Amino acid sequence: RLYGPMRKNSIGVDLSQASERKVLEDHVDRLREGKALVAGPIISGKVLSDGGAEVFAPSDTSRRLGTVREASDADVDAALDAATAFQPEWDALGGAKRAKILSDMGDALEANMDRLVALMAEEAGKTFADGIAEVREAVDFCRYYAVQAEEKFEGRTRLPGPAGETNHISLHGRGVFACISPWNFPLAIFTGQITAALGAGNTVVAKPAEQAPIIAFEAVRIFQQVGLPAGALHLVPGRGETVGAKLTKDLRVSGVCFTGGTDTARLINKTLADRQGPIIPLIAETGGLNGMFVDTTALREQVIDDVLNSAFGSAGQRCSALRVLFLPDATADFILEGLKGAMDELKVGDPGRADTDVGPVIDGEAHDMLHAYMARMETEASVVKKLDAPEGGHFFGPSIIELKSLDQIEKETFGPVLHVVRYKPDNIAEVGAALEAKGYGLTLGVHSRLESFAAKVRAAVKAGNMYVNRSITGAVVGVQPFGGEGLSGTGPKAGGPHYMLRFASERVVTVDI
Ligand code: GLU
Repeated sequence: RLYGPMRKNSIGVDLSQASERKVLEDHVDRLREGKALVAGPIISGKVLSDGGAEVFAPSDTSRRLGTVREASDADVDAALDAATAFQPEWDALGGAKRAKILSDMGDALEANMDRLVALMAEEAGKTFADGIAEVREAVDFCRYYAVQAEEKFEGRTRLPGPAGETNHISLHGRGVFACISPWNFPLAIFTGQITAALGAGNTVVAKPAEQAPIIAFEAVRIFQQVGLPAGALHLVPGRGETVGAKLTKDLRVSGVCFTGGTDTARLINKTLADRQGPIIPLIAETGGLNGMFVDTTALREQVIDDVLNSAFGSAGQRCSALRVLFLPDATADFILEGLKGAMDELKVGDPGRADTDVGPVIDGEAHDMLHAYMARMETEASVVKKLDAPEGGHFFGPSIIELKSLDQIEKETFGPVLHVVRYKPDNIAEVGAALEAKGYGLTLGVHSRLESFAAKVRAAVKAGNMYVNRSITGAVVGVQPFGGEGLSGTGPKAGGPHYMLRFASERVVTVDI
């Protein structure tokens, strides 16, 4: 095998070095002072960028980043035609050759780390630490799926049979995959979806989130420069209601991979169900209502650190983020005091500066939703802490709300808002059952020195990714395959050994002599 034994997780940038911090800040400044960026559909390698709409930075709503042209119906049609035409050739290329291309794509992303981090700070409001982790994750997806493509999608496997008969099984692409990715991981999830689909032998028409299409555009340009054939991947930026709806209705699409809200996943599911023609798979990764259970044996400093990271890292805009912290009556005040103090140390501000801990939320809509939510919670619950946030961008101060009971919330609030619920230790099964009854199942945290406590939580709450005595975000490719169950998604684990099989058809050939 070419890639298996060599695959390592990507290395990052050491932000404790002033020189490294400066390189990134300089990149951001160059972007801010440089020419406006221009993006749009990329179909068969051809860029269509005229007549785009203006895009502004979430951290400074007066700063124009560039323009992005939304894909028209005709653009989507052209992308689907081209992807359909090229798919047999791409599938026939075999897993090993596709693996080499995926691996080159990963190397190219890694080589562009600084620029991509700067771009994510500008377009998506990502801090440097988050941007670096995101490029690393994207690189890891390329390399991990390269290994999988080579291992599982090259050649065929002989199966047993009676004398005089041979049986072989082989894996193939299903056809054209529509990959619909979210703005909160505009590079990593975008890249993860398309590399899994491509590695399995599908061609791809990708719709990046309308809030962050430039980073996807830059990634596709990089991929095509290092040898991804122009027919294999086509980019159609635009809104879900237009481009997404057209893509999912189209009978040229043989599978959909989606990450985003549960309601949108339902809508896609319904669209697919209403189509004539073949029944096709939906791979969906959606929201969570993620809890962390702390008991009285937990180490206070560790809890505080992990809660800050899990709830307020990425401005709370991860589907894996911590939404509800369950604290035992006996130590709740002690832990909350520490948390409030630690929050005062967080710097909310410009994601293009290295000392920023929390950047802006993605757009005005997210900002208004959070303000309205807090206003409601001020009367219905108790706001324990709310940090101030700077003006001029979509900044929102990390906040803690104490709930009287879990009944007060039904779903996640996508932003830096943490809920706290107090519980009595002998009630753990009941409290866990109340969380489980909400129907989500993405991430779950425990802080305890007692294995028996973790086991009780695990028995009460089903989750795709459970973390004990650490933060509950930042799953690493090949180490913590990521994905949830129930309302959190259809189950496949991104960055895991079974993921690519969901993108594949299996064929068996039997020959008798
Ligand atoms: N994989 C990410 C993590 O573990 C979350 C992905 C998402 O927010 O969609 O934090």
